[in-house]
Amino acid sequence: MCAVKSDDKPGLILSILRYKCPRCRRGNLFQKKNTYDLKNFMKMNERCEVCGQPFEVEVGFYYGTGFVSYGLAVAISGISLVLWALTIGLSLDDNRFFWWMGINALLLVAMQPILMRLSRSLWIAIFVPYSKNWASGDIIEAERINKDQMNNW
Ligand SMILES: [Zn+2]
Repeated sequence: MCAVKSDDKPGLILSILRYKCPRCRRGNLFQKKNTYDLKNFMKMNERCEVCGQPFEVEVGFYYGTGFVSYGLAVAISGISLVLWALTIGLSLDDNRFFWWMGINALLLVAMQPILMRLSRSLWIAIFVPYSKNWASGDIIEAERINKDQMNNW
């Protein structure tokens, strides 16, 4: 399907973090590179431009990313709480815990575009495995797709 060599396999974690197609780990999931282009950052390619893998595998496929995004937000909050406790400290005698809550909330809002993209990238990587034959077929085709509902989740 394309002229890219298929012998070197890009790493799983880096391809998820770079929002790459899970099947070939080379094509881009999203149309725009800029995560903070807030009007367009969630627009996905219909298919991988490198291997042809469809990115909407079934109707409402990305509905489950809400749970992934929630898990990521909880993990980030846990890390920021530990970092806050180690650097600034926590006490019942002052408002430091409430300061952490406010700053953590701002951090999560600021990171929301990253979390939304990352959760989609993680989600499709769970369901579409890497294929060493990505250049020559064996695509997991979408089972049932409603064109009107595509990219609507
Ligand atoms: Zn691909």
